[in-house]
Formats: sequence, structure tokens, C-alpha cells
Amino acid sequence: MLTDTHCHLFYDDIKNDLPNVLKRAEDLGVDRFICVATNVEDAKECLDLTKAYDNIYGSAGVHPHDSKDAPEDYVDRIYDLMESDSMVAVGEMGLDYFRNLSDPQIQKDVFRTQMSISKELNKPVIFHNRDADQDVVSILSEFPDVIGVAHCFSSNLETAEKFIELGYYISFSGNLTFKNSHLPEVAKQIPLGRILVETDSPYLSPVPHRGKTNEPGRARFVAEKLSDIHGLPLERIAEITSKNATELFGL
Ligand SMILES: [Zn+2]
Ligand SMILES: [Zn+2]
Repeated sequence: MLTDTHCHLFYDDIKNDLPNVLKRAEDLGVDRFICVATNVEDAKECLDLTKAYDNIYGSAGVHPHDSKDAPEDYVDRIYDLMESDSMVAVGEMGLDYFRNLSDPQIQKDVFRTQMSISKELNKPVIFHNRDADQDVVSILSEFPDVIGVAHCFSSNLETAEKFIELGYYISFSGNLTFKNSHLPEVAKQIPLGRILVETDSPYLSPVPHRGKTNEPGRARFVAEKLSDIHGLPLERIAEITSKNATELFGL
């Protein structure tokens, strides 16, 4: 069975239909989910979902877009939320220079602060990186004790190799399936022991559902693409990527 290591289950489209969303996921062979926070408010919703469902895990953190609006007490609040064993990672955090919704300096400060929290808690991070390869690599390098995952990986092979060297996993989402994507060539070169699958639901729906509201079951299509790329049966890809998720997040 597959693990969707990155989905946002607290947005209305998904939340209001969650039992059906999870049923459809099960039918597609996806039976574990990490509900990833983008700010301290929705992190509380992640925590509540982990209490309601045995197969949903959560994270707490502040997305680069949200970093300018992080409340003054966000560090304390992340620590509080992370007290539950079902909260398995800090994030999503990171840098997004494509949209720059927060000032880059604020993004970097909030990213570094959350890396320190991970170090302190000995929990993995989930990071977001858009058009910020160099700065992300340099901040990760400041925290050699911390590991985690490059979520929705979309950079080149050289960057993937740097992340792997630093101890990180590479997570592929629906954009691996998009026509003309450079990502299959990258995925081919990455050791299977370092690959995770995710949907980033409700965003980035894979082919054949591109453009629609995404949901966690579609991690299946990402895994099918990896199965083509690596020339291995889907069951084997499911087994390996789920084992990777178990090891990284201690599920
Ligand atoms: Zn993201
Ligand atoms: Zn996300």
C-alpha cells in the first residue's frame, strides 16, 4: 500500500468530503497520509485529524508564503502542537522565490527558526523550495543533524544530489506525470531508497486528472509513473516508498 507523504486535508473541498476521499484513496491503494500544515492555525486542524483517524499523521510549521503573517508566538505553538506522537514532522517550511509572497529575508528567518525546532525535537522537516535551490542548500547545510524531505521536488539532478548528500529524501508529486517534464530523467537517477510519493492535494493533480482538485488517492498515479521510469512493478514501488516513509517519519 502507498503513503501520500504530503497532502493538505483541511481545505473545504477535501475536508467536507473526507470519508469519501479516504475511501477512494483506499480503492486506489493509498492507505496512509501525512497532513501537512502551512501555518499554526491549520496545523491545529492537522492535529485534530490525526486524533480522528489512525492512518492520518500530521505536521506543524509555517509555509514560506505564510511566514510574513506568522504570529509572534508561532515557535511556542509549534512546540505545543508537536507534543502529540501523531505529529511526525516540522513543516512545511522553506523558500519560495517564484511567488515571493513574503519578503525573502523573512522567509529565510522563519525557515532557519523551524530548522532549529526540528533539531531540538529530533524530528524530520518537510521543506518547500521554488526557485531557491542555492539558499535552500545553504540553510540545510547549517543544520547537519537535521534530515527530512524535499517535497514536490521540481529542481534539477544536481540539486537532488546535494539534498541526498545532506541526508534528505526526494518526494515526487503529480508534476512528475506532466507532459514534457524534466522530472522523469531526474527520478531515474535517484536511488529508490530515497524516494517518496505525495500528491500535495488539493494542488497539482496528476495526469489523467490534471487541472482538477487533487486528492490523496492520486499518489497512485505518481507511483505508477515511477514504476514505468524504474522498470519495476507498482507493488515494489509501493513497498519501497512506504518503507522509506515509515523510516523517515517513524510512522
Ligand atoms: Zn509546498
Ligand atoms: Zn504543500
